[in-house]
Amino acid sequence: MEKKEFQAESKRLLDLMINSIYTNQEIFLREIISNASDAIDKLAYQALTDQSVGLNRSDFAITLKADEKYRLLTISDNGIGMTQEEMEENLGTIAKSGSLQFKKDLAADADVDIIGQFGVGFYSAFMVSEAVTVISKKFGSDQAYMWQSSGADGYTITPCERDGAGTDVILKLKADTEDENYSRFLKSYELRSLVKKYSDYIRYPIKMDVETQKLKEQPEGEEKKEDAKPEYETVVETETFNSMVPLWQRKKKDITEDEYAQFYRDKFFDFEAPLSTIHFSVEGAVTYQAMLFIPARAPYDYYTKDYKKGLQLYSSGVLIMENCADLLPEHFRFVRGVVDSQDLSLNISREMLQHDRQLKIIANNLEKKIKAELVRMEKDDREKYEKFFAAFGRQLKYGVVADYGTHKDLLQELLLFWSSKENKLVTLQEYVDAMPEDQKFIYFAAGESRSRLQQLPQAEPVQEKGYDILFFTDEVDEFVAQTLMKVGEKEFRNVAADDLGLQTEEEKKAAEETETEAKDVLDFLKETLGEKVKEVRLSKALKSHPVCLAPDAGMSFEMEKYMKRVNPDFAYEAGRILEINAGHPVFAALRSAMESDPEKAKKYARLLYSQALLMADLPLENPTEYTDLVCSLMQ
Ligand code: ADP
Repeated sequence: MEKKEFQAESKRLLDLMINSIYTNQEIFLREIISNASDAIDKLAYQALTDQSVGLNRSDFAITLKADEKYRLLTISDNGIGMTQEEMEENLGTIAKSGSLQFKKDLAADADVDIIGQFGVGFYSAFMVSEAVTVISKKFGSDQAYMWQSSGADGYTITPCERDGAGTDVILKLKADTEDENYSRFLKSYELRSLVKKYSDYIRYPIKMDVETQKLKEQPEGEEKKEDAKPEYETVVETETFNSMVPLWQRKKKDITEDEYAQFYRDKFFDFEAPLSTIHFSVEGAVTYQAMLFIPARAPYDYYTKDYKKGLQLYSSGVLIMENCADLLPEHFRFVRGVVDSQDLSLNISREMLQHDRQLKIIANNLEKKIKAELVRMEKDDREKYEKFFAAFGRQLKYGVVADYGTHKDLLQELLLFWSSKENKLVTLQEYVDAMPEDQKFIYFAAGESRSRLQQLPQAEPVQEKGYDILFFTDEVDEFVAQTLMKVGEKEFRNVAADDLGLQTEEEKKAAEETETEAKDVLDFLKETLGEKVKEVRLSKALKSHPVCLAPDAGMSFEMEKYMKRVNPDFAYEAGRILEINAGHPVFAALRSAMESDPEKAKKYARLLYSQALLMADLPLENPTEYTDLVCSLMQ
């Protein structure tokens, strides 16, 4: 029989499992039961519309069987089963969506602890088994198949027999060692306690035939002897180990933090506990329970199109949709969780669901609940909220900008920006509340990094007034300001682009006079630079720097850079306005050169323009020409 090799990635995982010294090996049972439950979910769902399944909900079960003599533990289900190809695909490779992530963590020097935190699925069986056999028959197929492997050297698949659809996972347990007692996984009391601990909420009965000692009943007609010892007999009874109440249907006060976290990790393949759990039930127009989780970090594929938003949708405990996207607005797409409603029809189609009025009501409620929870976290536990914001803040900002700002009122409160004065993240309201009385605007500076913005020459006059400047380092930040326009009555102003409204009437007048005085220099610069600049004017902001570049109204340089990045064909450019500082010695030097050596003055003009570009973090049109220019002035 031909032995097939495991896919390379799978082999690594397997090796890790086989040689695992992981103390929490018992989780293998949870993983296998969870797969069995998923398989039953699939067939139970099909049974809703397909008469030929011929099974009622109450017929589905997961069965455990232990054979102490041969050290075999069998976990069976009557779920959907697998075809030969599916066995190949599912058991020969790591099918899990998180496998990439797993690989990454593995590379970052594997700590076996991740095994417990990250559902490693089926392969965890190898932590406790020397050989694993899977017998499966797909629903609707006549042929069953057997998958067999004793570890990393490969596996075989052969045809076999099985009554009815479903799967048996048969583990040949490892021999006991000094440190490890694998035999315990053959004891019903141990299995019962593991099921209770890890799989209690599984919605199908997990059954086992259990031997118990029972007091022998007195045969009728026989007289009871006074001092006779009570006689016991061994009886086999089928026991259901789990309570089958899904976690979300249990009372909040009866659920521990750990249970929530375990449930979340299991179901949503995260290896960190959620930052927050929102568990509630609603009775009224629509009756439902919801258990929502706010993850502590973005999944590795979060900002890609592979990430699927949505909640698991149940109807009275029956899974009807794995990923119901309509339950979550885009801006809260990071939320994971479960919704269970008694009011949804079981065999509702996807298209109908989209227009379902009750679903819309639920979705609206969920949005409010999520917002309220985030606000609560922001107010009561800022540290936690900042962690959340680091992971998903950008999503909220996109949410503000999306759909022409439709959601801005909902989301504004949830935004944080970096306050350069406070040196920490603040909400917009906190910024406004801290404004000195005479401050008219919300000032921001946009750029690549905080350290860079710290150097921004235009920031000086604002900071000198004692006003705070928000540092925008996310590409989307300026678009957010543009969409919000105002917080209360206060408008946003870009310190590098807008009129900052800092001058008194007197100062304005004085500035106009200086402008007139400087006209010769300004004209000279404009003439020399030609089309490169839209305008040359005196700066109101510069203190210690000679020049800077300001964008013409409409679009800032940061926005231009962003647009060019997302669309290389983007042809529009923010108009470049060169601002010069009349108080700077360079200004005088330029003016005197204009008289004594106009050619040199032209070089100065081009040099100053290049410097302004550099400070605005814009590319030089011709770096070679620039360095030649500097050299020629040094000679
Ligand atoms: P995961 O369950 O996270 O996808 P596993 O490694 O545990 O990863 O399982 C891989 C796949 O094998 C499952 O997704 C499923 O398609 C299939 N599988 C495992 N156990 C069963 C089972 N009892 N019945 C049907 N299919 C199963």
